[in-house]
Amino acid sequence: MSMTAVAQVFPFRVNNHVVDELIDWSNIPEDPIFQLTFPQPAMLSIGDLALMLGLVRRGRDEEIKQAARQIQVNLNPHPAGQLDLNVPTMMDQPLPGLQHKYEETVLFFPAAGQTCHAYCSYCFRWPQFAGMDGMKFASHETDGLVNYLKAHEEVTSVLITGGDPMVMKTSLLRRYIEALLAPELEHVASIRIGTKALSYWPYRFLTHGDSADLMRLFEKVREEGKELALMAHFSHPRELEPAVTRQAFRAVRDSGATVRCQSPIVKHVNDSADAWVELWKQQVRLGAVPYYMFVERNTGPNRYFQVPLLKAEEVYRKAFRHVSGLARTVRGPSMSAMPGKILFIGTAYVYNEEVFVLRFIQARNPEWVGKPFFARYDPTATWFTDLKPALGEKEFFFEKELRQLTEASAEAKAAAPHPVGGGTKGRQGMRQDSHVRRAQRV
Ligand SMILES: *Cc1c(COP(=O)(O)O)cnc(C)c1O
Ligand code: SF4
Repeated sequence: MSMTAVAQVFPFRVNNHVVDELIDWSNIPEDPIFQLTFPQPAMLSIGDLALMLGLVRRGRDEEIKQAARQIQVNLNPHPAGQLDLNVPTMMDQPLPGLQHKYEETVLFFPAAGQTCHAYCSYCFRWPQFAGMDGMKFASHETDGLVNYLKAHEEVTSVLITGGDPMVMKTSLLRRYIEALLAPELEHVASIRIGTKALSYWPYRFLTHGDSADLMRLFEKVREEGKELALMAHFSHPRELEPAVTRQAFRAVRDSGATVRCQSPIVKHVNDSADAWVELWKQQVRLGAVPYYMFVERNTGPNRYFQVPLLKAEEVYRKAFRHVSGLARTVRGPSMSAMPGKILFIGTAYVYNEEVFVLRFIQARNPEWVGKPFFARYDPTATWFTDLKPALGEKEFFFEKELRQLTEASAEAKAAAPHPVGGGTKGRQGMRQDSHVRRAQRV
């Protein structure tokens, strides 16, 4: 009963592979993969759980739906300015299936890829899966993407993401990827696909209907002189164990594609150094590159999953010590926050004050990247917005500029149809009015 109630708010989906190969049913509910895929009662507040239980018991569909929607809306469905700040414009028209936050990388959300083979219970994309109106990113066609990229030579990497683009048929994926191989897009050096399929549906790369075709598509990208990288989600070493998963890794690598692995650190699933040591070791063994350890975003059921920054950094540091240099490519714990991707590096004493040391590894303004900065020591902080500047500073070094960028972005949008650069210039134009251009993009 409580599962039914929670599932109204947090949509869930599993498949045979997850149920039969990944979950240890003798260890329920603690099993990490069970926690990773099945919604748990404690994800709702006591009040919300009681409300949903009552409604489910009385069984009025419309009321259940409305209450679930209300709870979802209160769970910060679009954190970090996702909806307002990252959607780029072209000729003053927003391009809703794209996000362009960091100069060199564009995210593309194909409409048919906005679901997954199974759902991770911590997933921050749940508004997409729950079909919350007006809150979906999705693009139906490639023209907008290609035209935007032609006008933005600073973009070297396109990340096709979702949901999970690997739920799409190969023929559809081919349309998007081949469009990116056009000679006018020579500046796009790499195509990435964000996916959980290597874990949740490895058959996608092996025996699934059009998997041979998929491998040929990957090969073609390589032959055209571009990198194809699968950005694979792996949360727990168990996901790497099945023989079929290892075969899928081999098939992908044989196609010339590379695999980079990333995941957030979340309570109940992988909040121990042992889990990460094993995860990174196995990834290297399979020829994959450990890439990011994320901090769980401040959205959805994050209260259930959140790990204090101090603990996340301790897990990262302890695990990092026990892997070879080949696994030390991994960066973390990293917060994808509004101003950029922020690493929590650890604590230090500066002028007798114990502080958190932070550093951007990606930022809305590339000038911010790499410079260490300090926040007050806070053992309870779980996200960047919990942190306050240290050493008597009133704000972090980038905040004034961030305000200017976001205000300029709002003005640029409000000023339409007045042309504001419109994305028709090449790199030269980008330099001349970089302030306005960047403002449009934030
Ligand atoms: C992480 C991320 C990227 C990719 O950043 P890389 O440093 O190139 O891996 C791009 N856009 C957004 C919005 C991101 O969060
Ligand atoms: S694979 Fe990624 S997008 Fe899909 S449910 Fe898991 S976290 Fe969400």
